[in-house]
Amino acid sequence: MDNHFLRGGEFLVHDSEPKDIFIPEEFDEEQRMIAETCQDFLDTEILHNLDRIDNLEEGLMQELLSKAGELGLLGISIPEEYEGFGQSFTTAMLANEKIGSGFSFSVAYSAHVGIGSCPIAYYGNEEQKRKYLPKLATGEWIAAYCLTEPNAGSDANAGKMNAVLSEDGKHYILNGQKMWITNGGFANVLTVFAKIDNDRVMSAFIIDSDIPGITFGPEEKKMGIKGSSTKMIFFNDVKVPVENLLGKRGEGFRIALNILHMGRMKLGGIVLGVEKYTITQSVNYANERKQFGTSIANFGAIKYKLSEQVIRTFTNESAVYRTCKYMDDQKAGFLAQGEDNGKAEILSIASYAIESAMLKVYGSEVLDYVVDESVQIYGGMGYTTEFNIERGYRDSRINRIFEGTNEINRLLITDAILKKAMKKEIDIFNKAEEVLNEIDNLPEISIPSDYYVEKLHYIRNFKKAVLMIIGVAYRILKNNLVREQEIMMCISDMLMQLYAAESTMLRVQKLGNKNGADQVAIYKDILDVFVYDAAYRIRKHGMDALNSFVEGDEHCKILNAVNYYTTVAPVNVKLARRRIADKLIEDNKYNF
Ligand SMILES: Cc1cc2nc3c(=O)[nH]c(=O)nc-3n(C[C@H](O)[C@H](O)[C@H](O)COP(=O)(O)OP(=O)(O)OC[C@H]3O[C@@H](n4cnc5c(N)ncnc54)[C@H](O)[C@@H]3O)c2cc1C
Repeated sequence: MDNHFLRGGEFLVHDSEPKDIFIPEEFDEEQRMIAETCQDFLDTEILHNLDRIDNLEEGLMQELLSKAGELGLLGISIPEEYEGFGQSFTTAMLANEKIGSGFSFSVAYSAHVGIGSCPIAYYGNEEQKRKYLPKLATGEWIAAYCLTEPNAGSDANAGKMNAVLSEDGKHYILNGQKMWITNGGFANVLTVFAKIDNDRVMSAFIIDSDIPGITFGPEEKKMGIKGSSTKMIFFNDVKVPVENLLGKRGEGFRIALNILHMGRMKLGGIVLGVEKYTITQSVNYANERKQFGTSIANFGAIKYKLSEQVIRTFTNESAVYRTCKYMDDQKAGFLAQGEDNGKAEILSIASYAIESAMLKVYGSEVLDYVVDESVQIYGGMGYTTEFNIERGYRDSRINRIFEGTNEINRLLITDAILKKAMKKEIDIFNKAEEVLNEIDNLPEISIPSDYYVEKLHYIRNFKKAVLMIIGVAYRILKNNLVREQEIMMCISDMLMQLYAAESTMLRVQKLGNKNGADQVAIYKDILDVFVYDAAYRIRKHGMDALNSFVEGDEHCKILNAVNYYTTVAPVNVKLARRRIADKLIEDNKYNF
């Protein structure tokens, strides 16, 4: 096992080395075969059926999920003793990425294999796992996750759904309603969250959807992902056997949150698949479409869009797989300490809650950029339903809303960092103090001449900028900081830019070490443009935060330091972007 992985949030205070991170170029033969199986399945079963899927054709989604089950695609994360394949988080992420470009199918798939099945895989007792997991792994049963209620969305623990123990002590009687449930139209197994008696926090129950008292609303009419079933579910005196309590009484909220951390992380992979698919569509069209006597791919304005789609996707991918491997390594550590598989998995997921939220927000916003610019590249054709570009544009929007809205996740990122700082799990406040002590005597700006030393110098400076803002914000605002949401969001934006920039730098350096420096020129272009842009974004968010709570001499001094720590050498971004676009145009597909 690699002993050098960083624990959740530690990237802010520690350097990483290229050898300590995983990059997607390192997928092994087995992982590549799984990816190919997923791609074949998409090509043969999904992509030519998109209209039928979006029309919610009766029985079609179940049939497709069942076919995916026959190929083993539903059991990738389920342990082998329950008839799954017990693959790593990294491999499951790769499968999610591949299936990710399956539009509504990918929503049904990921809800089933992720938030649907994982509560039982992670928290179920032996009997529950034996009963449910094999059937979920094959697709004989489909799962759904029922947390949201009409009055409890972001504030998930505010739900009114109630459970009371029956007089004979054999059942819990559940009453209430759940809303927006993915796979609601056909799921056989529901993980339902409800409060027992007057408990302050929820408990979780595994419920077979065909038991008396459960009824379903009509399909919600949605902006996008129209082929994914989304329903309200009503529970009227539903008798759930006591043995179907999942975990302990009152443990439901923790289960719900940890499953959401996992779901957020997986969403990072799903969006990657759509991004790559969409970029390929964009460049195919840009190469074909002629205006003013030439293909539109020859125009600088279009090259800008194509290259920026690539840059953001590449950075997103670098951060996603870096984190997956950390989680796998962390899990191996817990297994070595004697934890069982489910506990080890959940502990590792929980410890990367910060990274999960970052990947969810960053990935969903990269995807929105990619689909939006694809519509633009297609012009009027992007606005018709004739191409999947319009469908992708509509489908992508949900990713900023479910699995916790991006606002909630941005707040979570900074809140979790602050908590780790306060508990001294990460030495953030001391490091911030060190930076604040250094800013009285900042040396002349000097840019190292070696390429990677230069990039590392910037990344370290970005860390100093973020640490400084966190340190001074906490010193001045103390516990009120968590109520200053605009500042919290600025900090999380700085963190996301930093994490994406560092992950990309480490990947490019590792690629250079493996393949030779001359093989990574195009990746250096990606890194150059991204770090250059990240510096300005970090500066802007840092200044917006500072201007709202610091005044006088200290204000000037810290503003000056933010400028200092985000100063990077000029980059000819026009030429770098053109080179990236030219490679894409020549390959006529995303091939980075
Ligand atoms: C298509 C679809 C599928 C879904 N699938 C499932 C599923 O399978 N299972 C399930 O349980 N749920 C599911 N959901 C529910 C989804 O997780 C919620 O919609 C989401 O958590 C947001 O809750 P809400 O819609 O009630 O919005 P609200 O919580 O009402 O939020 C409205 C706005 O207020 C903001 N806001 C709320 N609280 C705060 C705060 N404290 N600070 C700052 N801003 C805040 C939000 O960011 C948002 O912009 C699904 C939703 C959709 C649309």
